[in-house]
Amino acid sequence: MVGGIAGQSRRYLVEPPGDKYISGGEHSMNRSKIMRAMVLEAPGQPLRMTDVSVKAPGRGQVLLRVEACGVCRTDLHILDGELKNPKLPLILGHEIVGRVVSSGEGAVRFDTGRRVGVPWLGYTDQCCRYCRRNQENLCDNPLFTGYTLDGGYAEFILAYENYCFSIPERYDSVEAAPLLCAGLIGYRSYRMTGPHVENLGIYGFGAAAHIIAQIAIHDGKDVFAFTRPGDTVAQKFARKLGAVWAGDSTDKPPDKLDAALIFAPIGSLIPAALAATRKGATVVCGGIHMSDIPSFPYTILWEERVIRSVANLTRRDGDELFDAAARVAVRTETRPYPLEKANEALGDLREGRLSGAAVLVPQ
Ligand SMILES: [Zn+2]
Ligand SMILES: [Zn+2]
Repeated sequence: MVGGIAGQSRRYLVEPPGDKYISGGEHSMNRSKIMRAMVLEAPGQPLRMTDVSVKAPGRGQVLLRVEACGVCRTDLHILDGELKNPKLPLILGHEIVGRVVSSGEGAVRFDTGRRVGVPWLGYTDQCCRYCRRNQENLCDNPLFTGYTLDGGYAEFILAYENYCFSIPERYDSVEAAPLLCAGLIGYRSYRMTGPHVENLGIYGFGAAAHIIAQIAIHDGKDVFAFTRPGDTVAQKFARKLGAVWAGDSTDKPPDKLDAALIFAPIGSLIPAALAATRKGATVVCGGIHMSDIPSFPYTILWEERVIRSVANLTRRDGDELFDAAARVAVRTETRPYPLEKANEALGDLREGRLSGAAVLVPQ
């Protein structure tokens, strides 16, 4: 539940030594736990620093002290009202690394002090037709972190422990944050390209692309990076990560693509990517929102090319990604911002001023 004083950023502890705290301008006689959070009150408005009460973990939940929370394009889609019916008021953020402060009834997976990650998929019913056939990413009754559950643009978060992941020790919390969404969606998209992929085109060379490119290169694939036309900085960055070719999204790659991943939310990239593929290729759209796809001739889909989207993630995707990330030293390009600069971080992402991932750090 969000409440309290807007526009202030006073710091509180989760287990206060005293028992009188001021929230919302009223003296509380209860032992209320207060944290700072950047709160969305309605779509289209900037986030506001707000004092929010911290709830005790319920059944199956852990309370985490947030160490880092990545900023994702999906946060912009929620902010702009392109994703409908968010919880309101809402704390955004679904790329969260935190440490367990306390555990609710039945939550025994993680000891206090353990560092865990919280992804977008926050909860599923485990009984709908999709959950029963191992497609929990399509669950009919899911809860999503930072959308229908409060997320990590805050000092603390409640999470269902069965949807959390252990974070490999080789990453610090800021480095690990982008793995929790960009990495996961990138990994699921990559997994959908099928078994016969020797080369891979990646459209939109942001956070998801730079993570999955490293894993694909480690797997021996040739990566072709496509950026917005003229973005030589991103092209240089892609080559530095090991892409064999980098160019504009309108360019023809030096070889036909076995598969393409599209991470930029631009519908016209679908026919562009299809036209660059060879027979039997799959074009995977990794975004949750995309502009309309222009009509295109059937000939560029012909010969068993496939276009597909990827929705959310399964816990299996997470287990596989974090296994891979423990083996491959994935370098995540990050830019840390203090929690109270969340609006600035979102603005930098929106305007394309970031080559890696913005990560909020409560201080
Ligand atoms: Zn379900
Ligand atoms: Zn995300």
